Amino acid sequence: MSKRIALFPGSFDPITVGHVEIIRRGLSLFDEVIVGLGVNTQKKTMFSPEQRMRWIQAAFQDEPRVRIEQFSGLTVKFAQESGAQFLLRGLRDAFDFQYEKNINFLNKHLQEGIETVFLISDAETQTVSSSLVREIIHFGGTLNGLVPHEVIREIYPNGPQPSVG
Ligand code: ADP
Repeated sequence: MSKRIALFPGSFDPITVGHVEIIRRGLSLFDEVIVGLGVNTQKKTMFSPEQRMRWIQAAFQDEPRVRIEQFSGLTVKFAQESGAQFLLRGLRDAFDFQYEKNINFLNKHLQEGIETVFLISDAETQTVSSSLVREIIHFGGTLNGLVPHEVIREIYPNGPQPSVG
């Protein structure tokens, strides 16, 4: 049987514990998970693609079944090119659901046969988002429990972070 490969697309600006959780759970369903770092020149990001890529790599350095790649353009096209038969997405709340429902419709319209698997986030990570993390970084607050250690070490290289935001 051919390998079951899922593409987990996103901006990962930066990667959070919520993303990590979805990828890890994805590994129990698929043989391989491709983390697709979408590089959209129109979208303003806090961190460069190289930086975002390094943090994802650091978080999964011991996991050979996770492949990390950059892409631009249509997600379904990249999925096809990289051999992924599935898309993997996380759902935190009704807003995510509404958004994903529309994207799912669009993706199926663009490429028949592509199937998206949605995983509902765990209670602990449900309120974590990259935009919340960026806000905290902007004000120099603590990132403990929100992003992988590698991200914290690079953002606060001089040790302990402020305990209050
Ligand atoms: P986008 O730029 O498409 O919004 P993100 O990088 O924010 O992408 O997220 C990529 C995927 O990760 C999306 O499916 C999103 O719903 C999911 N995700 C983000 N944060 C969490 C979280 N805390 N728990 C579960 N899924 C999450």
